Parts: sequence; structure tokens; C-alpha cells
Amino acid sequence: FTNEELLAADALKSIARDQQIKKYIQQSSDLYPLLLRAANRFVSGETREEGIKKALELSARGYMVSLEYIGENTKTIDDCVYAKNEFLALIKEAGSQLTETTVSLDLSHIGLSVDSDLAYKHIDELAREAKRLNVSIMISMEEAAKTDKILDVYKKVSEYYRNVGITIQAYLERSVTDMKELLHYPGKVRVVKGAYQETEGVTIPRSQNLNERYLHLVDLLVQANHAVSIATHDETLIREMHKRDYLSLPHVEVEMLYGIRPDLLKQLKEDHFKARVYLTYGTEWYLYLCHRLAEYPPNIYVAIADIVNP
Ligand code: FAD
Repeated sequence: FTNEELLAADALKSIARDQQIKKYIQQSSDLYPLLLRAANRFVSGETREEGIKKALELSARGYMVSLEYIGENTKTIDDCVYAKNEFLALIKEAGSQLTETTVSLDLSHIGLSVDSDLAYKHIDELAREAKRLNVSIMISMEEAAKTDKILDVYKKVSEYYRNVGITIQAYLERSVTDMKELLHYPGKVRVVKGAYQETEGVTIPRSQNLNERYLHLVDLLVQANHAVSIATHDETLIREMHKRDYLSLPHVEVEMLYGIRPDLLKQLKEDHFKARVYLTYGTEWYLYLCHRLAEYPPNIYVAIADIVNP
């Protein structure tokens, strides 16, 4: 990436969480619809109905879907209960309309930022309903400061529910140790490279070294016959796993974010591999858009083109 692109990416990371900018955009009748146009490439819409509609379309085209109601770091109990109820409604609707669904969530969206017990109470309620409707839940992994708490809640809920999975970030130094432990739990493990800006020494930057770590984590899962979601858009990694004959294994799937490398995911689906689209909806699309632009700065030009030429 150019220096300018990297500077823009850094700025976007700060802008994404700035409450005043967010409020300004939400109240601006000029800016709001323009940015929503750019977001439409990456999110299904603002409402659950739009999420389910897009999920049904993708499912009819042969993809599996993970659905997420966008949000994180919910600060009040009322807002956590609101988010949990939205997920409950999503599980009910997705469970009754789609044959195979995963609902994906950040624990900090439903309680972890208030306290771990609240997050556990909520995920327990969601997992119970999801199990009844044959829906899976996938817990996302957040900043390194939350890793222990997230793993603790996952392990606790896994004692009762096999339909709950967990995400592991290959860029964390600790992940190989964590993975060896996670192999003893029943839930699917989603392997990602990792998306957060952490203090130095906590993570490995994008590199060949990181790709080798990623492959090692997938190896551990495959060799243990453990359900795994290979969540990456990295063609080199996917090609390597194809070479190792992982992609045709019944417990292996490839998962990509909606709107990012749809060509690659389509090719995998046409080659009869299990292909899952991670699809989001919600009024917090602005945060999600900033993340997608920041992690791949050339997307800034794509966003401008979407705004100018919808
Ligand atoms: P990279 O090395 O970042 O990218 C490889 C190539 O993919 C790039 O060269 C480019 O061609 C393409 N690419 C990557 N990103 C983009 C983009 N935004 N736009 C266009 N092209 C792009 N991270 C977490 O920390 N916690 C989570 O819980 C989490 N859940 C995820 C769930 C799913 C299903 C996926 C796919 C990702 C998730 N992530 C999560 C994000 C992940 O950590 C990475 O930041 C993201 O996937 C980009 O890394 P990559 O593996 O695609 O490889």
C-alpha cells in the first residue's frame, strides 16, 4: 500500500469509533445516504428483514450463510438486552426460513463490556433457542485484552451446547496454545488472521510467518477431525489448503466476508467446496464500513466510486 493509503487507513480506524463523527453522520441528511451507498457493497442493509432476504438469495445460489447484527462494546445493560433480543429474533427467523444458518456475534455486543456474567447469561439463552431451531452460533474474537474473558465464556457455554463455535486469531502469539486446548471442546473453530490494532509484541504482522502460523492452526484442527471454518480472502492460503486436500473434507468450510472476493468464493462453490458468506446488517454499518476500508485501503477508491456512481 502507498503511504497515503496507510495514513488514510489509520485515520479511518480512529474515525470508526469517534462518537461525535458518528452522530454528525447519522444526523446529516446529505452524508448519511452517500455513505450508506458505499456500505451497501459490504452490508445487506439496516434491518433484520434485509439481512434475511439477502441470506435467502445467497442460500438459493448454493452458499451457506453466517448472519451478524452489527455492533460491539455495548455499554449499558438495557442496550445489551436490546441486542440479545435482536439476536433472539434473528435466530428464530433465520432458523425457520433457512435450512442451514450460523448466527455470528461479538460477546461485547451482548454484555461482555458490562460484565462476563451478563454475556454468559445472554449467550446461554441464545444457544438454547438456536439449538431448538438447529441454528449454530459463532462467537467472534475481539481485542487481545478480551481474549481470556471470551474464551472463558465460550468454554462455559460449550459444556451445555455443541452448536456454539469460537474464532481464533492467527496473529496472536498465544493462539497455538489456545488452539490445543480448544480441540477438547466441541464447537467449530473459525480461524482468522486477526483484525485489531494491538500494542507491539502482541501480534504478528501480515507476513509469510503469519501465513505459516495460520496453516499450522488449520492443520491442528484438520488432523483432529475438528470442525473448522477457514475464514480468509487470501488466495495463496486457500490454494495451499486445496493442495493439502483440506477443502473437500466434510468438516472443513471456507468463509468470506460479503462483498470481499466474491469471485473467489464463487469459484470455490462451483468447485463443490463448502462456501459460507459472512453477512451483516444493522444501523451500525458505518463502523463496519470503516473497518473494511481500513483493512484494505484500495477499498477507499471503490467506496468513492460507489458514492459517485451508484
Ligand atoms: P489479508 O492478508 O488481510 O488479505 C489477503 C487478501 O485478501 C488481500 O491481498 C486482498 O486481496 C484480500 N482482502 C482482504 N481484505 C480485503 C478487503 N477488506 N477488501 C478487499 N480485499 C481484501 N477478525 C477478528 O479479529 N475477529 C473476528 O472474529 C473475525 N471474524 C471474521 C470472520 C470472517 C468470516 C472473516 C472472513 C474474517 C473475520 N475477521 C475477524 C477478519 C480477519 O481477521 C481479517 O482481518 C480479514 O479477513 C482480512 O484478512 P485475510 O485473511 O483476508 O488476509
